[in-house]
Amino acid sequence: MAKYVYLFGGKKNEGNAEMKNLLGGKGANLAEMGSLGIPVPPGFTITTEMCTVYYENKKKYPPQLKGDVEKAIKYVEKETGMKFGDKVNPLLFSVRSGARKSMPGMMETVLNVGLNNTTREGLIKKTNNPRFVYDSQRRLIQMYSDVVMEKAAGKEVEEGMGIRQQLEAEMAKMKKARGVKLDTELTADDLKELIEIYKAKVKEVLGKAFPEDPMEQLWGASGAVFQSWMGKRAISYRKIEGIPEEWGTAVNIQTMVFGNMGDTSATGVAFTRSPSTGDNKFYGEWLVNAQGEDVVAGIRTPSPINESTKTEHSRDLVSLEVGMPAVYKQLFAIERNLEKHYHDMLDIEFTIQEGRLWMLQCRVGKRNGPAAVKMALDMCKEKMISKEEAVIRVSPSQLDEMLHPIIDPAAEKVSKAIAKGLPAGPGGASGQIVFSAADAVAWNKAGKKVILAREETNPEDIEGMRAAEAILTARGGMTSHAALVARGWGKCCIVGAGVLHIDYRTKKILIDGQEVFKEGDWVTLNGTKGYVYPGQLAMKKAAEDNPDFMEFMKMCWAVKKIGVRTNAETADDAARARSFGAEGIGLFRTEHMFYGKNAEQPLFLLRKMIASKTAEERKVALNELFPFAKDDIKKTLAAMDGFPVTIRTLDPPLHEFVPQNETERQKLAVSLGISKEEFNKRADALHENNPMMGHRGVRLGITYPEVTEMQIRAILEAAAELIAEGKKASPEIMIPVVCTVEELKDQRILVEKIHKEVCAKVGVKKVTFMYGTMIEIPRAAITADKLAAEAEFFSFGTNDLTQMGFGFSRDDIGSFLPSYLEKNILPDDPFATIDQEGVGELVKIGIQKGRSVRPNLKVGVCGEHGGDPESVKFFVKAGMNYVSCSPFRVPIACLAAAQAAVEMASAKPAAKKTAAKKVASKKK
Ligand code: PEP
Ligand code: MG
Repeated sequence: MAKYVYLFGGKKNEGNAEMKNLLGGKGANLAEMGSLGIPVPPGFTITTEMCTVYYENKKKYPPQLKGDVEKAIKYVEKETGMKFGDKVNPLLFSVRSGARKSMPGMMETVLNVGLNNTTREGLIKKTNNPRFVYDSQRRLIQMYSDVVMEKAAGKEVEEGMGIRQQLEAEMAKMKKARGVKLDTELTADDLKELIEIYKAKVKEVLGKAFPEDPMEQLWGASGAVFQSWMGKRAISYRKIEGIPEEWGTAVNIQTMVFGNMGDTSATGVAFTRSPSTGDNKFYGEWLVNAQGEDVVAGIRTPSPINESTKTEHSRDLVSLEVGMPAVYKQLFAIERNLEKHYHDMLDIEFTIQEGRLWMLQCRVGKRNGPAAVKMALDMCKEKMISKEEAVIRVSPSQLDEMLHPIIDPAAEKVSKAIAKGLPAGPGGASGQIVFSAADAVAWNKAGKKVILAREETNPEDIEGMRAAEAILTARGGMTSHAALVARGWGKCCIVGAGVLHIDYRTKKILIDGQEVFKEGDWVTLNGTKGYVYPGQLAMKKAAEDNPDFMEFMKMCWAVKKIGVRTNAETADDAARARSFGAEGIGLFRTEHMFYGKNAEQPLFLLRKMIASKTAEERKVALNELFPFAKDDIKKTLAAMDGFPVTIRTLDPPLHEFVPQNETERQKLAVSLGISKEEFNKRADALHENNPMMGHRGVRLGITYPEVTEMQIRAILEAAAELIAEGKKASPEIMIPVVCTVEELKDQRILVEKIHKEVCAKVGVKKVTFMYGTMIEIPRAAITADKLAAEAEFFSFGTNDLTQMGFGFSRDDIGSFLPSYLEKNILPDDPFATIDQEGVGELVKIGIQKGRSVRPNLKVGVCGEHGGDPESVKFFVKAGMNYVSCSPFRVPIACLAAAQAAVEMASAKPAAKKTAAKKVASKKK
């Protein structure tokens, strides 16, 4: 027979902390504490499996459960010496939910179950406190009628007309009649009367009497907890947190203990270390003569738990350490014991009933990024955990918190977002809205902080993007121009906030035709989540200069097994990435020399090249461009000091560089010595209907070999010069957007030719370099064995591979992605997290086929997924040699790579064990 009920507290503790899946986090930990001899009010857990059975059986329990629960109640009665439903010595229960993962406030709780007009008499005698007992009964009726009789029964009510509000109104009426303000001013007799008023109201509104039978109350409350698993709040929370519906919740039925029985009673919550700094100090708060919800609700100000954690504001409050020294001593010993036992920081809840301490909950405590890093390091030093465990303890998003300023969580909690877009560049930023790149630059010069709002961005906006604190666009996806550029700079950015209508003409932003912002208004962005807030919210500084951060990174470097490189084009970015531990550049986008700082002259020359009519004209422009290209490459090669630098030949469709604005066009026409009409004619000829699938990447090198030649010359001469200067250089030449090996062969001929010329020019036999390709077209992945015959390395361009694998435009996905995510058609944005079963499969095929002809083929990834933790783990497991990402994501990628290494190592012995078991069972 299946076991659906597990006892805890007292002598029998049938579960343990490992059984979270079956007992939920709360139930599993209560049993674990019980086994450790820690005082836990006795009770029992109905398993999460029962939740599934309940839903599968049209919300009915199997017959077995009734007997199991009755037996469990007998156990609790024996342990406590009280009796459920007894009029002399009544046992009362709390009934609470408990999922595998904590879902704070998302499900229901009913307290004081078992209290009625009979049992209350016993409790009054026992406590000699009628007011307390009547108040408990009143609370039960209020909670029960709301949770069980209304919500769980599926009663639809008008806003503000719920039974809870109607009962509250009755209480307000009574207070008015008695001429008092506070609930606490009502006397025991008042409350006794109120109980009857409540009952009558329940009957009148819900058409059913409040159940006096304790057993009926218990089953009603348990059913309501199971029902709340499918409640609206819980469903939305699960969606956000990615908690599967099949998990179900457990129900914990536990002896009630009261922290509000007078001045020797109290309640509190605590952490075994500080969740905000990681300091190894016992932190917490307590309230005398109070119930748990009073601490949470913030009606009364709780006091610090001990003297050492008092602040200026709490200096005069009485700590538990002073107020109840013996209990404090016991609690302190318990928290030390628990932390040692769990090897982690715990969050604990306790109640003191008439001087006696009871533990109500313990679980691994939530913490912020800096605290997570500090605790991992400290616990490793204290030999509580291994280096590998320390690396697992910090989540990539916690590490990310340390790299960017973020909105102060307290300020964010009380603010309402006005729009949501795609979280393209992490961190938070505040500024005044401007609508053009030129204004962004001008306002910034005038000392203002600005947020650049655009429909979408293009390379012409680059100066404004740099000047802005953050970028907000109404269109675009995670690999659109704005997103790529912002991430490269570590700048906060939200793209594709589709509800925003950005009106450049009036310099206003509208939602549904209503003005929400005008030029100069303050706005705050959360680029990690994609939320847009009106006004200027408080910020928290980045902590990347925190010494713990670097120490933790060193730990990650030591644990990870594959390389982590960066996508960078400037010596500055390269140096920053090196300081974060990058071991090379996985993508140097040559076109980036035409954006941003000092780009004016090279951009002009590129435009001149683009607008050339003949190959001769083009060569002249390319010759002028050559020194700029060489200089850029040389500086970056030098900054990487011998680490490999993968330099990609020109990739974007040329029309992206044609100026849109008329004055620019005029200027260019003049410097080219042609009329504006002629210039426009040439520019318009570059127009393409599908530029992302048009004349770009290697196709440019095939039609304009002189462009490839100039770039190869720049790379090889830069490397040769560095070597001649006694420095190190390891360039890797990479050809983009390749779909057939013939393209690689074609370009290789040019590479060989230029190599010879450069060797002759600088007087060396050979300049060492590698020749490889990007795999970013599905055909390339599928014919990877052919490509590997020519390519010495592959770098997966998963941005384009996703674009072409799904057929989703990387620039236009913002318009339909939100519906896809909302309707669960896609689990994630595939441009942010690799689609393992489709695009990921292409990656695996590419690696396997490539290595089938070239076993030592070097394989990496340089699409944006190279900085996404989930994707990095996938790439490590797929056998890549390195991942490459923007400089600010290097630490995150290092951490993810280290975590993947630990996961793989711990999966191995298990695999061995199962294999051994199989052999053993065969032997039998
Ligand atoms: C890619 O396609 O993944 C890539 C890195 O190239 P880009 O984003 O420059 O097209
Ligand atoms: Mg690409």
